[in-house]
Amino acid sequence: MATDIPRLVEDLRATFDRGATKPYAWRVTQLEAMQRLLVDNEELLADALAEDLGKHAVESWVTEIGFLGNEIEHLLRHLREWLRPRRVAIPLYLQPARARLVREPLGVVLVIAPWNYPLQLSLAPMAGALAAGNAVVLSPSEHAPATSRALAQLVPAYLDVAAVQVVEGGVPETTALLEQRWDHIFFTGGAAVGRVVLEAAARHLTPVTLELGGKSPTFVDEDADLQIAARRIVWSKFTNAGQTCVAPDYVLASRPVLDELKPLLAKAIRDFHSEDPAASETYGRIINDRHFERITGLIDADRVVAGGHSDAATRYIEPTIVDGVTAEDRVMQEEIFGPVLPLIEVAGVDEAIGFITARDKPLALYVFTGNEETKRRFLTGTSSGAIAFNLPMAHLAVPTLPFGGVGPSGMGSYHGEASLDVFSHTKPVLDAPTRPDLTAVVYPPFTALRRQLIQRIVAPRRRR
Ligand code: NAD
Repeated sequence: MATDIPRLVEDLRATFDRGATKPYAWRVTQLEAMQRLLVDNEELLADALAEDLGKHAVESWVTEIGFLGNEIEHLLRHLREWLRPRRVAIPLYLQPARARLVREPLGVVLVIAPWNYPLQLSLAPMAGALAAGNAVVLSPSEHAPATSRALAQLVPAYLDVAAVQVVEGGVPETTALLEQRWDHIFFTGGAAVGRVVLEAAARHLTPVTLELGGKSPTFVDEDADLQIAARRIVWSKFTNAGQTCVAPDYVLASRPVLDELKPLLAKAIRDFHSEDPAASETYGRIINDRHFERITGLIDADRVVAGGHSDAATRYIEPTIVDGVTAEDRVMQEEIFGPVLPLIEVAGVDEAIGFITARDKPLALYVFTGNEETKRRFLTGTSSGAIAFNLPMAHLAVPTLPFGGVGPSGMGSYHGEASLDVFSHTKPVLDAPTRPDLTAVVYPPFTALRRQLIQRIVAPRRRR
C-alpha cells in the first residue's frame, strides 16, 4: 500500500487538534476552493465521468457538477447563521441561568463514496464535513477510476492538504482506513459493505452515517397525468443507465393504468434517447462487467415489452420495460440498479400500500396522483427515506430537505443544514451565575416545607 494510512490520520488529527479547521474563515475558504475546483475543471470532471459511466456532459452537470455547486452555495449562504449559538429556554427554578446550543466539529471524518455518482457522493459529504469544521479523508470508489484519479489530483491542488486527504484504492485500502479511529464515518454504498463499516466502527464506538439503497417503488394512480408520469419515470429511471440509488426500482399500478402507461413509457424512451439508444450520446453505460452480467441476468426475455437488447463489449443495456412481473420474480429479489423497469399489477391504493409495507423500507417512494386523500394515505401508511408526489429523484436536489434512508435503506441524513448536524456535535451549554443561589432550594436537609416547595417548583404539573 503506497500510503501510510495510520500516519496520514495522525497528521490530520494533529491539524484538527491545533484548531486549524475550526475558524469560520477557514471553512469558508475550503468551501470556496471546492467551488473553484468545480468551475475550473468542469471539462476535466465531465470527461472523467464520461470515461467511467458514459455520462453526457449535461447529465453530469445536472446530477454532479452543478448539483455540487448549488449544495456548496447553500452551505456558504447559511453557514454563519447555522453556527450561531442558539439560545434555548430553561426551567424557572434554574433561572437566572442561561442555556444555549453550540455546534462543534467532531474531529477527523472518513467519507467512503460509491461509483455511481462518484463525484457528487464524494464531494457533497466532504463539503458538509468541512463546513462543520472537520478534517476529512475521502475514499473514492475504485470502480470509477477516472473520477477517483481526478479527485486525487484536484483535491490537494485546491484544498488545505493539512486537513483534507484523498486515499485512492479498493478493498485493502478501505479496510486499512476502517481500522483507524475516526470521529465519524460517512458511508454511501450497498448494505453488505454497510455492515462491514458498522462492525469496524463498533470497535472504536465511532458514529456512522449509512447512505444505502434498496428498491424504491413508484405507484401510478388511476387519476394521474400519465403523459407526464411516463416522461418523469423514464427520466428518473434511465438517467445514469438506471444506476441511481433513488431511481424508481419498479412501478405498481392497476392493469388499465399499466396498459395505457406502457406505450407512453416506450415513447418517452424514444424521445429522450432516440430509436437506438446504443447510438445516442445521451444514454450511459454500465459501470463494469460484473454489474452488466448481473443486470442482464434479471431480464426475463418473455416479459420484455420495450428494449431488452444489450452488448457486453460496450456494457450497453437498452432501457428495458418488463410487464407482468410478480413479487416472486428474480428481478424483484434485489435492488436492480440498472436500466430495467418492472411493471407490477395491483388492484389499487390499498394493495400498493400493502405491497410496499410488506418489504424493506425503501430509500424513496414515488406516487403519481392528483388526489390529496391518496397522498395522505401513502404518507401516513408507509415509511421510506423520502416520499415524493409526481416527481421522482428531484427531492435530493432540494438542499433544505435532509437526504437519507430509514431502516435497511440507511441511517442518518445530510445535505444543507442536515450536513451540519451530521458532522457536528450539538453541545448543550448551561451558564449559571453564582449569585443569587436559587438552586439552594433543592439542597438538603429536606424539611417538609422544603419538600413541598421542591415539588411545586421543580416539577410543576401541567394545567388541564
Ligand atoms: P459498495 O457497497 O459495493 O461499495 C461502496 C464503497 O465501499 C466503495 O468505495 C468500495 O471501495 C468500498 N468497499 C467495497 N467492499 C468493501 C469491503 N469489503 N470493505 C471495505 N470497503 C469496501 O457500493 P457500490 O456498488 O459502490 O454502490 C452501489 C450501492 O450504493 C447501491 O446499493 C446503491 O443504492 C447505493 N447508493 C446509495 C446512495 C445513497 O445516497 N443512499 C447513493 C448511491 C448509491
